[in-house]
Amino acid sequence: MFPKVDLNKCDGDGICVENCPANVFELKDKKSKVVHPEDCTECGICVENCPKKAIELVEK
Ligand code: SF4
Repeated sequence: MFPKVDLNKCDGDGICVENCPANVFELKDKKSKVVHPEDCTECGICVENCPKKAIELVEK
């Protein structure tokens, strides 16, 4: 599994960037971008903490 960001919901607050222990996300053009999907440990922190519910874990 790896995170998928719904860019229509993402408002670029960067909470996932700050909280992901594996540094999977970066902010680019005020949107969260999944830059290191292979490093995801499937901990679910990003999904739980996104106020916009813009992130889900999907199958590779
Ligand atoms: S599930 Fe955990 S490791 Fe994977 S992207 Fe989200 S916060 Fe990072």
